[in-house]
Amino acid sequence: MPKKMKACKNCNAVTSENECTLCGSEVTGEWQGYLIVLEHEHSELARKMGIKTNGKFALKVRE
Ligand SMILES: [Zn+2]
Repeated sequence: MPKKMKACKNCNAVTSENECTLCGSEVTGEWQGYLIVLEHEHSELARKMGIKTNGKFALKVRE
């Protein structure tokens, strides 16, 4: 996993940008785990995490 990647504090989306590409919130380098959501409608984990789009997400983001 590239060290540059950051995760959104709001929606957990993983990005290499300095703000979230999904919701525009603040991102942090302090995150763990990696989840790739391909079919969010059919993913129980995505539903539990409140993910409403396909993409790459962190499992844990430090506030
Ligand atoms: Zn976000």
